[in-house]
Amino acid sequence: MNYESVIGLEVHVQLKTKSKIWCSASAEYDEKEPNTCITPTCVGEPGALPKLNDEVLNYAIKAALALGCEINKLSFFDRKNYFYPDSPKNYQITQFFKPYAENGKLKVKTNSGKESEITIERIQIEEDTAKSIHLSTESLLNFNRASMPLLEIITTPCIKNSEEAYAYLTTLKERIKYTKVSDVSMELGSLRCDANVSVRKVGEKKLGTRTETKNLNSFKAVAKAIDYEISRQIEVIENGGRVVQETRLWDEENGVTRTMRSKEDAMDYRYFPEPDLPPVVISDERLERIRKTMPEFSGEKLVRFMREYKIPELEAIPLTNEPELADYFENVVKLTNDPRLSCNWILTEVLRVLKEKNCNIDEFTIREDRLAELINLINDKTISSKIAKEIFEKMIQSDLTPKKIVEKEGLAQITDMKAIEALVDEVIKNNKESVEDLKAGKDRAMKYLMGQAMKLSKGKANPKLVTDLILEKCK
Ligand code: ADP
Ligand code: MG
Repeated sequence: MNYESVIGLEVHVQLKTKSKIWCSASAEYDEKEPNTCITPTCVGEPGALPKLNDEVLNYAIKAALALGCEINKLSFFDRKNYFYPDSPKNYQITQFFKPYAENGKLKVKTNSGKESEITIERIQIEEDTAKSIHLSTESLLNFNRASMPLLEIITTPCIKNSEEAYAYLTTLKERIKYTKVSDVSMELGSLRCDANVSVRKVGEKKLGTRTETKNLNSFKAVAKAIDYEISRQIEVIENGGRVVQETRLWDEENGVTRTMRSKEDAMDYRYFPEPDLPPVVISDERLERIRKTMPEFSGEKLVRFMREYKIPELEAIPLTNEPELADYFENVVKLTNDPRLSCNWILTEVLRVLKEKNCNIDEFTIREDRLAELINLINDKTISSKIAKEIFEKMIQSDLTPKKIVEKEGLAQITDMKAIEALVDEVIKNNKESVEDLKAGKDRAMKYLMGQAMKLSKGKANPKLVTDLILEKCK
């Protein structure tokens, strides 16, 4: 019998606002001592009332537009009731009956090149809980994360396999990253994903019973867990059993999922409208204002870079992957008017240093103006590309401009014909054999003589002038 798999993903994205969702507590809670970044609202003290942070709504709208969703002008908050120490109010404020965004459509392309459209059923704004840390004999609670703003992004059960799930997550992450409303980092916990998986016989209309897998720490883990669940569920059915609806945990080390708890029905959360918050009203003006600030996404940027700067696709892809790097490139080009050389320098030297230092472009100490100045020095022939690389290394160590370094260290290219001639004569005098070889038409001798000349000038001689003069003198 042939089976097909059906997958729905729930993704939580933490928004990078300045303050938390209901109160003035700072959202930069991570570096702070446990339980210092809180207000009575974050810990759910009786009588402490929530008020929606306006910026959360702006960020949420931006993310929803980036994911191709429709925005509801009127939506509501609801209470999801459950008992757990990480939420002492005994409920989580979320959006259940009417979320602020629905019906998203997102085009994705798998690694093997298959294109499809993923539908997002809904996005709801909700609050995060405290973080529990379970030790061997006690559990600790850190409320710094409590009341952080979250979006829960839920797809319909439209994803066909792990490859498509992976492509969806990659696209979602990239698009949200471009809006700058979240770091969307699984490592830092600002992106979390649960995978719902079921299988059914091909031709069957009714969906099979699903399991929900949590504890997924990377997109690769999501894909592996989905594949594992598909095989496991098929095996259960083939052996005459039935798949049980439950929550499972991914065990990365052993590459398996394990039962965590049987899934409560949605009814058990006893959702009801949140009485402490007014309806969420999104005006046309607000929506328009946010629409105007929507970024150009990487796909669009890629096409524009190829057209506007004449950069080949293979180079335009890494350049447009991260919005910050793309901005950096465009700022350099504004100052150099040389897209080709700017692109080369960024993709080779700049990316190499970022990798070595394990930092991102925003933390890179050579800003656009200094790199552009260096490129301009190459283009106006003040320095050779080889010397430029030496200067680049020195620029990393200091905040001197390339011009200052050239001046201080006497690195300007030698273009004075008298000096070049003296240099070439010296090389010819000391390398009689190679000169004879060159005269006999052996091209390799030219390379050697050039090397000698460059060495003698400590890399400062203008290579074109040297080549021309050697050829002239060894006719
Ligand atoms: P819950 O409260 O159980 O988390 P949600 O509505 O938040 O429910 O999420 C349900 C997720 O499960 C959605 O992404 C949905 O597409 C997916 N899903 C629902 N039924 C199935 C099924 N039979 N097989 C696979 N995925 C499913
Ligand atoms: Mg859910």
